Amino acid sequence: MNKAFERKLPIGIAVVVVIILANTALSYRNTVELYAAAERVAHSERVQAALEQVLTSASEAETGQRGYIITGNERYLEPFKAAERRIDAEVSRLAQLTRDNAEQEADVPRLQRFIVQKLDELRLTIAVRKENGSDAARAIVLTDRGRLAMDSLHAVVGRMESRELATIAAQQAAYAQSRDWAVSAGLAAGLTALVLVTAFVVLQQRNIRARSLASEALFEQKELFRTTLASIGDGVISTDRGASVTFLNPVAEALTGWKSTEAQGEALASVFEIINEETRLPVENPALRALRDGSVVALQSHTVLVSKSGTETPIDDSAAPIRDAHGLMTGAVLIFRDIAERKASERQLRDADRRKDEFLAMLAHELRNPLAPLRNAIEMVRLSADDPHVVASVRGIMERQVEQMVRLTDDLLDVSRITRDRLELRRKPVDLALVVQRAMESADPLIKERRHAVTLALPTAPLVVDADESRLAQVLYNLLGNAAKYTNPGGRIHVQAMRDGSDAIITVSDSGIGISRDHLQNVFEMFTQIDSSLERSQGGLGLGLTLSRRIVQLHSGTIEAASEGLGRGSTFTVRLAAAGAPASAETAAARTFAFPKGRRVLIADDNRDSADTLAQMLQMVGHDVRVCYDGVNALTQAELFRPEIMLLDIGMPVLNGLELATRIRERPWGARMRLIALTGWGQPEDLKRSQRAGFDHHLVKPVELSRLQELLAADKA
Ligand code: ADP
Repeated sequence: MNKAFERKLPIGIAVVVVIILANTALSYRNTVELYAAAERVAHSERVQAALEQVLTSASEAETGQRGYIITGNERYLEPFKAAERRIDAEVSRLAQLTRDNAEQEADVPRLQRFIVQKLDELRLTIAVRKENGSDAARAIVLTDRGRLAMDSLHAVVGRMESRELATIAAQQAAYAQSRDWAVSAGLAAGLTALVLVTAFVVLQQRNIRARSLASEALFEQKELFRTTLASIGDGVISTDRGASVTFLNPVAEALTGWKSTEAQGEALASVFEIINEETRLPVENPALRALRDGSVVALQSHTVLVSKSGTETPIDDSAAPIRDAHGLMTGAVLIFRDIAERKASERQLRDADRRKDEFLAMLAHELRNPLAPLRNAIEMVRLSADDPHVVASVRGIMERQVEQMVRLTDDLLDVSRITRDRLELRRKPVDLALVVQRAMESADPLIKERRHAVTLALPTAPLVVDADESRLAQVLYNLLGNAAKYTNPGGRIHVQAMRDGSDAIITVSDSGIGISRDHLQNVFEMFTQIDSSLERSQGGLGLGLTLSRRIVQLHSGTIEAASEGLGRGSTFTVRLAAAGAPASAETAAARTFAFPKGRRVLIADDNRDSADTLAQMLQMVGHDVRVCYDGVNALTQAELFRPEIMLLDIGMPVLNGLELATRIRERPWGARMRLIALTGWGQPEDLKRSQRAGFDHHLVKPVELSRLQELLAADKA
């Protein structure tokens, strides 16, 4: 718009100038013509006046003559004489005035002739009057000679006057035309000027509007630019061609310690001082390189920015030249950002990765560890040809090693559930003393092995929490196990459960190796093990506390580690919301471990070893047990044997455990039979599936004998 206006402006001005010049020329011509016409009219009027003068003089001469003839008084001759004196001069003037007009000029001698005739007649009559009296003179007058001369004179003057009148009329017509022209030209010029002035004003207004729009757009752009620079997370510094600072955005101000106003005009090198992260030697400023090479300098890291006050910030930076509309370099812009956080998270990632690698190495080690004693034990049993003494002596070893492997596998499974957020709780009101008791039972062998003295402080009244009993026992077992592992043999372990306001608290304290202040929080991180030879010898995968914390969090509780320092023991505190004591809560006091009476049990499992060992174990504790290795056979056996309880594997060929359960439930004898699923699958969906198929319980392999005993002992609900 602006440009268009600027292009049109000279054309507009040229048109105006041409019109003004044309109008001036036209006006000049018209004025000249008007003057000429006026001059010609004045001339004609002068000729007319001269003719009138001549006629008047002739008439006055005649009047004087008549007066004298009648009176004879000489005084009457005065007008005659005066007219006679001046008339020649008047005729000459007329001749002079009519010299520009041939027709008029030609009539002047005629006019002169008639004047001479008239004057001659007048002189003659005067002379006769003088000599011969008035009658003689009157006789001459009456001859009409004088009247004829006078008539001729009138005719010539009339003709000449008519010509001058015609000239005046013609001049007046020309004058009128010139005036009309002048008026029209003036009007046309005025109108054109008006149109042009209007057009100019409109264009000017448009131009002003365009300029104001452009300046608004410019302002908006500047504002956008300013706001962007103020709100982006990167530091921005701009310089001029000579690398002097022109601008710093707020982030740049914060990172360099320079205010934009005070940095203006300073050399970039002193405002933006960078050194190499490792060598700590000055690094070339990317903006200077951009100014020197005229090219963009890509992102660079491993640089540390030293602020005005000496603070160091790891940054990455890039720079680019700034060019004007003609492509000429006018300065450079430097962009940089604080990468301290990114570096920290990179470090964390590396640490996590390292911990994971260590974990995998340890996992391999930990899984292989129990295998050696197991293999040895089997060898011993084989070599001794199943000597009952040898079997008895290695059973303990085998149990412990298997227990250890089961625990590792369980932990791994739990961790995978945690990371997929699939750990689910089965909560019910439970007495904390019962949980402590369960955990103590599991940790007992290790505690005994390491000869620790355990003291328990449990409340006399039930302390009930709404919790998943086994998961809570798992937490306590972890804490007890750690206390046993990380305390040198012969140490002390103290377990306490108590109410604290609306909370229930369990603490496990030991007199062990303690935890340094730095490691207190880390111990709950996955795969974390505080590196020391003693710990390494204790086994474990660095998962126990991670699992424990997650389980406690799922109960909306907290778990904390405390230690006075290395060598000064540790205390782990679990805090949960205490619940009221509902009638249904199973309390430690009420819990009894009745030895189960013998049941008729049918086991179905296509893994023969698994089926056989389970059968033997149950037979040893007094049950009447039958074994089948497939579902079809199991259905027949069930019909014949009519067991009270069936322990069914789920994954069997031909007829799997779920189908088998459904079929049994369809039979009249199968309705009240107790069906227990025994499987490697323990996800909530697996539980739901087995429930739908008609199972009463769902146990995940390997099953603890005590748990099985409990189920076998209980009567069908
Ligand atoms: P794990 O015992 O399998 O290594 P945990 O997650 O149970 O894994 O424990 C993490 C780490 O915390 C242990 O390796 C140990 O260094 C430290 N820790 C746990 N409990 C104690 C304790 N009672 N005393 C000292 N250190 C402990």
